[in-house]
Amino acid sequence: MDFTTQIFCAPGRYVQGAGAIHEIGAHVAPLGGSILVVGGRTGLTATRAGRRKSFEAQHIRYIEESFNGETSDAEIERLAALCKQTCCDVLMASGGGKVIDAVKAAAEEIDVPAVVVPTVASNDAPCSALTVVYNPDGTFSRLRPLKKNPALVLVDTDIIVKAPVRTLVAGMGDALATWFEADACQQSNARNNFGGHITGIAMALARLCLDSIIEYGFNAKIACEKQTVTREFEKVVEANTILSGLGFESGGVAVAHALSEGFSVIPEIHRYLHGETVAFGLLVHLLVENRPKAVIREIYEFCLSVGLPVTLSDLGCGSVSRDLLHRAADDAAEPGKPSHNMPFPVTGKMLYDAILTADALGERLKAERQKS
Ligand SMILES: [Zn+2]
Repeated sequence: MDFTTQIFCAPGRYVQGAGAIHEIGAHVAPLGGSILVVGGRTGLTATRAGRRKSFEAQHIRYIEESFNGETSDAEIERLAALCKQTCCDVLMASGGGKVIDAVKAAAEEIDVPAVVVPTVASNDAPCSALTVVYNPDGTFSRLRPLKKNPALVLVDTDIIVKAPVRTLVAGMGDALATWFEADACQQSNARNNFGGHITGIAMALARLCLDSIIEYGFNAKIACEKQTVTREFEKVVEANTILSGLGFESGGVAVAHALSEGFSVIPEIHRYLHGETVAFGLLVHLLVENRPKAVIREIYEFCLSVGLPVTLSDLGCGSVSRDLLHRAADDAAEPGKPSHNMPFPVTGKMLYDAILTADALGERLKAERQKS
């Protein structure tokens, strides 16, 4: 057993609630007096009225800038340079995962605090100290670990509830995998994103994440369809955003995320969201690790209840060649991939077989459901 240092990291402050955007000025004031707000058209519009009033009340100078749409090195450099030129001492993202990642990296370049206001709850970008960098043509470039987590993450659930329901459900798919992957990492004594081992707090967050999704996920989806912010909706937004975000980076990822990446060799899957591919990856993960039948069944039932994919057809891959599926599995099992965070050796063949089994089981359960 290796008793190396345990590391846990988190954002400086996390604020969540209906109408929270109206309080943003008070939370930004300790960080600086001038803020550059970056987002796409939808992201900026969603937060504009609330933040404008709140910044003015706190005498915070604010400037808006449009995000060019891609988290590329060039865009990160551009935003960092603009923040300097405009003499802003805080950088803020208002929108989805891509602009959030670009702003976090740009803030690091010029050593100013990053403020994150997500307008969807589909991903782990808001709270993490990690940026996924893409090439200007949209293809994946690399993961860029950051020195710090954002200084402030502010989530207004009145804004999140207006985002497409599919984004909330995808976020649940990503969050559903968090505890299982952290558990695998803990068993194998793997290192987390910060090069340390897992703390008890990370495991507790990951567990709460799973329990919240299972308990409140279905009702939260209904609330989102009706655009109402209920207690269940708040619980799921918290799970998708901070519990999953901290659980994955201070815990670790394993087969579910390795497969989500591996599946990117299949063109048909590109129109599906990260959390949707992670959800199917989790089913494979559970089969590979031979979890008790009842646990596997519970996760399938949950996915079916909220509309997360349980078969290859659900991911548009029903008629994908065996060859391509093999490639996806082999890619996920390459040396250095997170599938090796499992507490036993993992091979491409093992993943391939589990993909086919997960798919067949999904088809069977779907048929059973239709009958009853
Ligand atoms: Zn993820």
